[in-house]
Amino acid sequence: MMQEQIDTLIIGGGQAGLAMSAHLSARGLSHLVLERHRIAERWRSERWDSLVANGPAWHDRFPILDFPDLEPHVFAPKERIADYFEQVAEQIKAPIRCGVAVTQVTPDADGYRVKTSQGVIKARNVVVATGPFQKPLIPAAVPDETIMQVHSSGYKNPAQLPEGAVLVVGAGASGSQIADELLRAGRKVYLSVGPHDRPPIRYRGKDFCWWLGVLGHWDAKTRRPGMEHVTIAVSGAHGGRTVDFREFASRGMTLLGRVGDYQNGVLNIAGDLRTNIEGGDRHYLATLDEADAYAAAQGLDMPAEPEARVIAPMPDCVIHPLRELNLAAAGLAAIVWATGFQSDYSWLQLDAFDAKGRPSHRRGVSELAGLYFLGLPWLASRASPFIWGVWRDAEYLAEQIAAN
Ligand SMILES: Cc1cc2nc3c(=O)[nH]c(=O)nc-3n(C[C@H](O)[C@H](O)[C@H](O)COP(=O)(O)OP(=O)(O)OC[C@H]3O[C@@H](n4cnc5c(N)ncnc54)[C@H](O)[C@@H]3O)c2cc1C
Repeated sequence: MMQEQIDTLIIGGGQAGLAMSAHLSARGLSHLVLERHRIAERWRSERWDSLVANGPAWHDRFPILDFPDLEPHVFAPKERIADYFEQVAEQIKAPIRCGVAVTQVTPDADGYRVKTSQGVIKARNVVVATGPFQKPLIPAAVPDETIMQVHSSGYKNPAQLPEGAVLVVGAGASGSQIADELLRAGRKVYLSVGPHDRPPIRYRGKDFCWWLGVLGHWDAKTRRPGMEHVTIAVSGAHGGRTVDFREFASRGMTLLGRVGDYQNGVLNIAGDLRTNIEGGDRHYLATLDEADAYAAAQGLDMPAEPEARVIAPMPDCVIHPLRELNLAAAGLAAIVWATGFQSDYSWLQLDAFDAKGRPSHRRGVSELAGLYFLGLPWLASRASPFIWGVWRDAEYLAEQIAAN
């Protein structure tokens, strides 16, 4: 049987794979995209029901297609985002095969041997676009049989969880939004808050995507030193609101420091809550300062917004923080782990990783000829894993592939 041969094989049919396909097609470069499930599958089945994009429709999109049905300032619901990527695939006539999983990639003469659920393909170039958030990361703290536990990627809605209080661990974009949703559904909620940034969703008439753009933050090439474990708490939910943990507490949420060890029904809680809340405040206020300085330097005629600087007093749960949580005494029925993701490249059997198992690359170009990565956090800049950032990175990779 003849083996199928492809110039460039793109693995993954999410936004990264489609951006790559668009840029290769624009250069007349032949390629194939393999997607194990459906286009933009993670937006369909690995996100909660009420999720809307964190960025507004004018920003969270590719330059080749807008959202004609949405006002620019609206935050698109997750199903609309998945539909959007199907429309992109149609518009660019992406050569995509859905329902085909790549199970192994090994080196081969003049390229790569790619084993799939539907046979073997030989590819000169391989672009790995399998996502920045591949495998749920749950700290092995609480034994499975103790209580219902779900990762944020498996959380759908409040009704999925048994009656009772809920502990949400992690207060980045996912954890803070899920905790808020559970609180609004009438649950007693405990939220474990780690170090975080919390940009104002809007300030002086512009949204945070605009501000991060003009202030050069999307273009940052590396994380600020010491900020490797700092999450970003933003939310497009309810029309877009600045994440404010004091406001959550004022509605009855109990904030906690970081979750530690578990023993005999009790979770230890670190004493870092106040530090983490104050760190988030500092970041928030520093962003306002930077925005004001930019507006002044550019002579922009923007309405002043002094009320944005008013910060409520520390809530009691921060002043007198719990240092342990007895699951039974707190009436906990479930834990939602919004603790992030890890990568899984076990199927990529190539010498393409550093000592920590991370892909070795420069702006997505691996040290192995013909191997590329796309869509990873900080691949080229802070914008890299996000919808509009991956478009730029894909363009760069297409230039590299064309040059070779
Ligand atoms: C909760 C949440 C909210 C987010 N909200 C926003 C937002 O509002 N705005 C924004 O810009 N970004 C957002 N992001 C970040 C980012 O846009 C998404 O994570 C996006 O899904 C990443 O796209 P991707 O194409 O790089 O990867 P993915 O969407 O993960 O796509 C990878 C694809 O590869 C397929 N695949 C994986 N392995 C294989 C294999 N071996 N063979 C074949 N196919 C395979 C998967 O099925 C998947 O469809 C959010 C992320 C999360 C987790």
